[in-house]
Amino acid sequence: MIDLKLSSINGHDSRRTIVHVDHVKIGEDFVVIAGPCSVESETQTIVTAQRVKEAGANMLRGGAFKPRTSPYSFQGLGLQGLKILERAKRETGLPVVTEVTDPRDVSWVCEYADVLQIGTRNMQNYSLLKEVGKVDKPVLLKRGMYSTLQEWLNCAEYILAEGNPDVILCERGIRTFETYTRNTLDLNAVPSIKEVSHLPIIVDPSHGTGRLSVIGPMSLAAMAAGADGVIIEVHYNPSEALCDREQAMPPDMFFQLMKKLRLLDTCMKEMNHMNGNLH
Ligand code: PEP
Ligand code: MN
Repeated sequence: MIDLKLSSINGHDSRRTIVHVDHVKIGEDFVVIAGPCSVESETQTIVTAQRVKEAGANMLRGGAFKPRTSPYSFQGLGLQGLKILERAKRETGLPVVTEVTDPRDVSWVCEYADVLQIGTRNMQNYSLLKEVGKVDKPVLLKRGMYSTLQEWLNCAEYILAEGNPDVILCERGIRTFETYTRNTLDLNAVPSIKEVSHLPIIVDPSHGTGRLSVIGPMSLAAMAAGADGVIIEVHYNPSEALCDREQAMPPDMFFQLMKKLRLLDTCMKEMNHMNGNLH
């Protein structure tokens, strides 16, 4: 891949980036980020945060600014939503990942977020990328739904070039001819990115599939492919969700998935150890 001065594994010094968020080390330990698609109320967010924490999640997700396809859909609670996330963090200790959609909001959203998320629709919003490149918060950069790996890494490059070294990539599915699932989760991206870049990469099987029954298997597949983590939408009462209801995972199901992820993690560590001994 061309012109990747800062994100490529060669241009760097072949060491992999580890992003520290409180006590979580993204790129070293497998990280599970979970929570609602959007912050809807204090009860919804705090109860969901407590449930995902009990299940073993490492970080809390929740959108206060929602870049919706339709202007008539719920757009998020804005500042009120960020304050709810702050309370949820205080209650659970979970660091918060939340989306920022406007360059003018970056500096003040930083007061509430531990990780700034750039959504798929904004991957190539260069003024937004430059702005998040200037702050000292890690950035979760989602892959544009029509973007190649080269285009995606170029966007990471915009952030790195401004001086922010803490970029986490997130594969969230791409548009294909398939309609059974909401998107096609491109797990090729995981080992491919690892081959060319030192940046950590996590997977979003919620938006990548849009189907509750497919999210669990694809989370396990993401781990098997070598991802550094997953981000999963969980809602304490999915039938009430204002956003992405069909893919909202109920807490019990998330609890079971976490058990399977822990089992597979043990297996993956053993396999990596075996590979290390073979080299
Ligand atoms: C989200 O994670 O809340 C979201 C809107 O995802 P995406 O940008 O991948 O559609
Ligand atoms: Mn969503």
